[in-house]
Amino acid sequence: MLRIEKVNVSYGSIHALHDISLTVNDGEVVSLIGANGAGKTTTLHTITGLKGATDGVIEYDGKDLRRMDPSHIIRIGMAHVPEGRHVFTQMSVQENLEMGSYIMNDKSQIKKNMDMVYEYFPRLLERKKQLAGTLSGGEQQMLATGRALMSNPRIVLMDEPSMGLSPLLVKEIFHIIKTLHQNGITVLLVEQNAKMALAVSDRAYVLETGRISMSGKASELLANDNIKKAYLGA
Ligand code: ATP
Repeated sequence: MLRIEKVNVSYGSIHALHDISLTVNDGEVVSLIGANGAGKTTTLHTITGLKGATDGVIEYDGKDLRRMDPSHIIRIGMAHVPEGRHVFTQMSVQENLEMGSYIMNDKSQIKKNMDMVYEYFPRLLERKKQLAGTLSGGEQQMLATGRALMSNPRIVLMDEPSMGLSPLLVKEIFHIIKTLHQNGITVLLVEQNAKMALAVSDRAYVLETGRISMSGKASELLANDNIKKAYLGA
């Protein structure tokens, strides 16, 4: 279980996160929704150690993540699919995937993971020799997700996977999230597309200017009038 308790984060004089508390139980898909600048990316960066918290608790399975460096965080089963994908543009699809397993030595396990990723994303298999920089936006999102899966994570943090994608590809990406869920992988999903995010989530938190303003079952938030008005375009 991932547990965050009363975490505060600042960028100089900007207090970006105020007493954030949230939990993600094993096997759940939990989404964090909110407008631009609400602090969603900062929350993910704080969990993975890319940004330091000024106080509060961040634990995964009882281990203190605030004292762990990011490479160790991958080793305990947490992977991050960053906003904007950040694939290695001058490397092939296959080489990008190999980079995702850099913490592993077992070649047969790496091969198994690669086969699993190609099963999730047949389109990547068709393009395994292609330079990542020449992939479409949707294919780059698949590659960034596949690269995260190469480390055999138990929990995946995904930052705005639907950003900039056509409606068809958005559907495909959310379908993948559902499949991860069915396969027992825990997901913490940051999204501006609240409707789609809530549709694939068990629970969700709403972040407003650095504070959690609401949380609950995704189905209840989908039916909530305030959420409908603010985030679902009703
Ligand atoms: P978006 O959906 O637009 O990516 P977000 O909800 O992910 O937004 P964050 O990127 O976490 O929001 O930003 C939260 C706040 O922290 C914003 O006010 C932002 O301007 C500020 N912020 C983020 N990164 C930095 C930084 N490196 N230096 C200073 N301020 C920052």
